[in-house]
Amino acid sequence: MNYDPDARRDTPLSCNLIARIKRDGPLTVRQYMTACLQDADHGYYRRREAIGRTGDFITAPEISQIFGELIGLWSAVVWQQMGGPSRINLIELGPGRGSLMRDALRALRLVPDFLSAANVHLVESSETLRAAQTETLGAIDLPINWHPRLEDVPEGPTIVIGNEFLDALPVEQLIATPSGWRCRSVTVDDLDRLQFGEIALPPSGRLDIPVHAENAPAGSILTVPNFSELSAPLASLGKSAPLAALLIDYGHAASEIGDSLQAVRDHHHEHPLTSPGEADLTTQVDFEAVRTQITMSGSENAADPALVVDGPITQAEFLGALGIVQRASRLMAANPIEAGNIELGVARLLAPQGMGTRFKALGVRSGGLPTLPGF
Ligand code: SAH
Repeated sequence: MNYDPDARRDTPLSCNLIARIKRDGPLTVRQYMTACLQDADHGYYRRREAIGRTGDFITAPEISQIFGELIGLWSAVVWQQMGGPSRINLIELGPGRGSLMRDALRALRLVPDFLSAANVHLVESSETLRAAQTETLGAIDLPINWHPRLEDVPEGPTIVIGNEFLDALPVEQLIATPSGWRCRSVTVDDLDRLQFGEIALPPSGRLDIPVHAENAPAGSILTVPNFSELSAPLASLGKSAPLAALLIDYGHAASEIGDSLQAVRDHHHEHPLTSPGEADLTTQVDFEAVRTQITMSGSENAADPALVVDGPITQAEFLGALGIVQRASRLMAANPIEAGNIELGVARLLAPQGMGTRFKALGVRSGGLPTLPGF
């Protein structure tokens, strides 16, 4: 998307960032994305109305209750595969408005033994969304624990769910130049407007250039994700007890060259520098990088990974394997007045040119577990 500096919006965060850049120098894309999403006063996730029909973007659990219900039942099958342990951590990463967990727990009433074993943990960095989750889950008769980070969740048999969590993790970006790779930066122009620039790579060599990018022509942009806040705690949780995770997000199965940083405000795309703090800033998830980082994490030896990855497969394949069509038919028969809406919601989740294929599901499991259901 082209940037028109004159279309920029003077948000409270943009004023702060411009002052910060003039004082301390350019930001990396990762620093910019972190500020836009997580700034304590003006970060995007401070806005509770961000997600949903009236917000900036709508997610699968907000489209259809069946999404969360199927994931709840998926969790019960995984728990049985683990041997039905008497305590199980059911963790959700970035629960948004809490709809997925509400629907999952409602469906899990069919499996009361699972509910008696479950400790629900919500990993949420935003106080504002935490308040929204408290409201949505208010009627649930189970203890619910909140944590700002996954690493704070206690050990034990664990099931982790994350829908549209990975896309919100800040990335670094590199630009190919005739004299080698440089780091993409956010700086200010002569008129004090934000613009992209470039700075030297960090000296530590922290950003290795992946094989698929070695011969990229000058001007190419490489998006470099860092999933360590997920992969390190997963590896550590999976060391002492069975662990399974389900990560669903939009993105591609294989790493690609390209600038996948995008901003969405009020259901429309805009340039990522236009409305700092007031647009949702995400990237397409590079599932090959997720795979590699998760299987390398906590393993001394790449041939003997501590965690095994299933997929990615498309969202349509995953939900299809879990029986979404059958569940929708039953729900429609029981609710004839709502049948049209139920059908529309499911069609949207499965759309071949839309969410059904753009979204992928990835399973993660500790070595002793069989392939996860649906994969
Ligand atoms: N899963 C929800 C919401 C997706 S939006 C849904 O499908 O509707 C992303 C969510 O992740 C928000 O709740 C946001 O506050 C949270 N989040 C983003 N980055 C985070 C981080 N680094 N740690 C914890 N939570 C984070």
